[in-house]
Amino acid sequence: MEEISFLDLKAQYQSIKQEIDKKILEVISSQRFVLGPEVENLEKELAAYSGTEFAVGVSSGSDALIISLMAIGIGKGDAVITSPFTFFATAGAISRLGARPIFCDIDPDTYNLSPVKLAELLEKEGTEFNGQKIKAIIPVHLYGQVVDMDPINELAKNYHLCVIEDAAQAIGSEYPSKKGIKKACSIGDMGILSFFPTKNLGGFGDGGMVLTNNKELTDKLKLLRMHGSRNKYFYEILGGNFRLDAIQAAILRVKLKHLDSWQEMRRKNASSYAQLFQEAELLDDGFVILPRNVYKDKGLTNYHTYHQYVIRAKNRDNLMEFLESRKVPTAIYYPLSLHLQKCFSGLGYSEGDFPVSEKASAEVLALPVYPELPASHQEYIVASIKEFYKGKN
Ligand SMILES: *Cc1c(COP(=O)(O)O)cnc(C)c1O
Repeated sequence: MEEISFLDLKAQYQSIKQEIDKKILEVISSQRFVLGPEVENLEKELAAYSGTEFAVGVSSGSDALIISLMAIGIGKGDAVITSPFTFFATAGAISRLGARPIFCDIDPDTYNLSPVKLAELLEKEGTEFNGQKIKAIIPVHLYGQVVDMDPINELAKNYHLCVIEDAAQAIGSEYPSKKGIKKACSIGDMGILSFFPTKNLGGFGDGGMVLTNNKELTDKLKLLRMHGSRNKYFYEILGGNFRLDAIQAAILRVKLKHLDSWQEMRRKNASSYAQLFQEAELLDDGFVILPRNVYKDKGLTNYHTYHQYVIRAKNRDNLMEFLESRKVPTAIYYPLSLHLQKCFSGLGYSEGDFPVSEKASAEVLALPVYPELPASHQEYIVASIKEFYKGKN
């Protein structure tokens, strides 16, 4: 069998090469490389896709987080609540602005911020944490499944907090809210996307977007991404260069047309895994726990978009090593909770503070799930896992 890839971006490129190459050449001919019509059209298309009124293209998902926090004036003396079980950028953005991240533990089934824990935290702290004012929450839709947002929005309303959805891993993912089915980025006050090449909608370099229904915030975001300048060389507020390139936008517009079919292929691969694990009898003995689809059967299409297919596995580290010896690539998202990272040691957290997150980091294992993943690879992967657990109990 040919080599198994964790993610094969070349397969996707090959399937749309002609369209993409043509668009790139068009941008080159236009010699308009920063913002411009390609970016404006992508903004319109992604706002429509996500069900928001506005969208602002920016330089990366990390910058989308920073600029959305800047837009609501987050800085020194402020605090922002988020998950300790996420990519670094979520908490990094808060700290970069001089504010303090406050971590809140996750739900063991979804790995997403727990509304129950959030309620407890706010009940205990009110709107101040060690003298810092709690101003916002960043729920992260991890692996492609939306956070349970209704109770989070409710809490945010009661405590006057702004909600920024980190949807870097969940473009297009749906949520059955009390007000109907909503897509990631349209549920809070703002939502951010990343177009890092490995994301479900990935560019040929860095890129990101902030989406919102708020006109005022949109104007502020557009100012901020241009050094705070509306008229050239006159600066109204302190901003930066957070602009999206036209080539990226052009590529993303081609890819966006295929996104839903790719999401469907990811879900199909997830279903195949579920069936294979079932047949391999790895579930009943608790060797492997599959991802939970908490919104399935609620009339949603994108109830999960499987940016990652993450299982919990007994004896995870040894399994990973064994799979490596069988040439099965796997990955751990994430091996160390953010509250235990060296760079955040100043926040005063210690081991045991967020037990659900810590347990997850010791047990989770991501398997290849990219859209073009061959069925034969999935069969080999599950057979290899079965081999590892053979005779163990
Ligand atoms: C990828 C990612 C980001 C950052 O996006 P970049 O475009 O790589 O800067 C932020 N948050 C989460 C949860 C991510 O997965």
